[in-house]
Formats: sequence, C-alpha cells, structure tokens
Amino acid sequence: MIRIAKPKFSNEAFLNIKKVLKSGNLVQGKNVEKFEHKIKSLIKTKYCVVVSSGTAALHLSLLSLGIKKDDEIIVPAFSYVATANVVELCQAKPIFVDINNDDFCINVDWIEKKITSKTKCIIAVHEFGMPCKIDKIINIAKKYNLKIIEDAACALGAKYNNRIIGSFGDLGCFSLHPRKNITTGEGGIIVTNNKNLYEFVKSMKNHGSGIIKNKKDYINAGFNYRLTDFQAILGLDQIKKIKDIIKYRNKLAFLYDFYLSKIDWIKTPIKYLNRYSVYQSYHILLDKRINTKNLILYLQKNKVESNIGAQAIHIQSYYKKKYLFQNKDFVNSYNAFKHGLVLPIGEHIKKNHIIKICNIIKKYKK
Ligand SMILES: *Cc1c(COP(=O)(O)O)cnc(C)c1O
Repeated sequence: MIRIAKPKFSNEAFLNIKKVLKSGNLVQGKNVEKFEHKIKSLIKTKYCVVVSSGTAALHLSLLSLGIKKDDEIIVPAFSYVATANVVELCQAKPIFVDINNDDFCINVDWIEKKITSKTKCIIAVHEFGMPCKIDKIINIAKKYNLKIIEDAACALGAKYNNRIIGSFGDLGCFSLHPRKNITTGEGGIIVTNNKNLYEFVKSMKNHGSGIIKNKKDYINAGFNYRLTDFQAILGLDQIKKIKDIIKYRNKLAFLYDFYLSKIDWIKTPIKYLNRYSVYQSYHILLDKRINTKNLILYLQKNKVESNIGAQAIHIQSYYKKKYLFQNKDFVNSYNAFKHGLVLPIGEHIKKNHIIKICNIIKKYKK
C-alpha cells in the first residue's frame, strides 16, 4: 500500500531517544527547550511554547486571549474539526464563513458581514499548508479591533509575501501530528511576540504553575498539555531538514500537477506567486459526477491510500444539531468535503510512485 503519509526519522534520532529514556528524565527536559529555540528562529517570533497537540495549542491560544462564554469567533466552515471544537470548548460560538474553492481557505470578502459586537477573534486557517489571505484578515481585524489566531497546523514553513506563516497573528499554532510536515507523534506549537500571552500559555500547559515572590506557585487552574522530552528529539531531528522537506513536497506536487493535468474530471491545486505552500496535503477537487467514496475504494484496491481532505464542519452532527445548519449553507465547504481528495505525499513518495498513482487514476472508469 502506498500510504498518504509516512514519517521518516534518522538513526541518530533513535539513538538520542534511547539516551533520554535511559536518563530517566522523560518530561520537561532540555530537548523540549532546544526544540522551542529552533522553532523560534524559524518563525522569527520572540516566544515559543510546545504542547501536546495542535488542538491544545489552539485551545490555550483562545484562553490566553480571554475568550469566554458567548464570545463569537470567526472560523472557516471547511477545516479540520478541531478548529471549531476549541471554540466550543471555551463555551464561545464559532461563526462559520465559507471558503474559496481554489485555495480552500476562508473567503475574506465574506468575513465582515459576520462581525457583530460579540466578535472577538478570527481563526485564520492555512488549509493543507497553503497560506490564506492573511494580509486582508489583518486589515479586517484592525478595523474591528479583533484578535487573530493563525491555525497553521498544516503550514509549518509556509510563506505569504515572503514572510513566514505563524508570525502574522497574535498567536500562531502548529500541529506535529504524523500527517503534518514534521511530527513528534502527537504534539503542537504556539508562537507569539506577546510576553503576557506567552507567560499565560506556558503556565496553563503546566498545571498553572508560575513564580510568585521567587517561589514556585500555582497561579492558574491549568492543564497538563506538555510535550515529552523524547518526543522533542523527533522534532529536532526533522526541523533541521524542514527546508528540504518542503522543497521535496513542492517537487512532488509539481509532478502530480503535470501528470494529472490531462484528466478533465480533476482540478489540481492552484499556485499563487505570493504564497509558498508546504503541501501538507496534495488536495484535488473531483468533478461532481465522480463518487469520491468509490474512487477511494478503487485506489485502495490498487494499493494506493487516499482520503477526503477536511470536514465541512457545519454538517458534522454536533454542529448540525446545535446550530441547525443545512448542507448548502456553506456551499464551497460542502463541495470541498464531498469532492475533495488527498493523495500520498511526503518523503516516502518517489517520482515513480506519482507516475504509478496517476496512471491508476487515469484508468478509473466513472
Ligand atoms: C491537524 C489539524 C489540527 C489539529 O492538530 P492536532 O495536532 O491533530 O490536534 C487543527 N487544525 C487544522 C487545520 C489541522 O489540520
């Protein structure tokens, strides 16, 4: 089976993990700190806190901004469901905005209509590693005095107008899940330039710990959202080669674009001159005549793993029931959910795999 994603680690990483395990210091060690330093210099922010998942990163970010019951948070209707779940976890209300059907990111022209006196924050998702129009979002946020959290779960290393993603918002969040560009198993990252936000998330991920009058104390009712020290080794191992990982993914995407270009029932991802995608997923849009589930089964029979890309969040049972949404309330999100497909990409994929996958797809009888 050609897998959608298959992380690769160096032998050095395995040896270093063994060292940490033998030392007995499994959490709160120096590898976590080293990893945070590396991320800070990559994203060029003042502060970085690693946590146990991308979801934990988003959750703490919202809490750090003081988001509470009945606040309204703008989120795209098409994303991984965690983007909206964290809003619910703060007892706030996700206000969905539809996406574009080319970059699969929030349609910035439709944000302002959704802003009310209760709106506090916009979660800007860089879906599949493609930067959203973050400059436009910043302008809207300034105009209405809103905060911005970048959900860059898929977009470590991506750039917009040559500036690195994650450094635009009040906080930037990344995921280190195995489906993302670099992984620690489970894991997440928060970056910010704001010292108060940094100190809050740092305390909250560690049971609310802090220092009062030079003494260790508990200053918040916090979580345990920590990353372990041996996981940080995996992060350090891959962040060294992040630029090569992204370049390679771009190369594979280019090959897919080329070999799929002649298939008239497939729309390949669009490229933008001022946006550098990291292709966390290679996401194509199928013609509406194609039954996505049947194509996934056909590919599976031919030993190629594929899957839908993300959820139309508004029609997941929890949201549909609570807010009484209809499928077509966010029509591009619905279509991307029904007709989007991700194909294998990553270090485990070679040029001949792409040719093979594209030939199998070409032979599909609708
Ligand atoms: C993966 C992902 C998340 C969640 O990250 P986890 O590390 O799995 O918790 C959140 N938002 C988006 C857009 C994602 O793709």
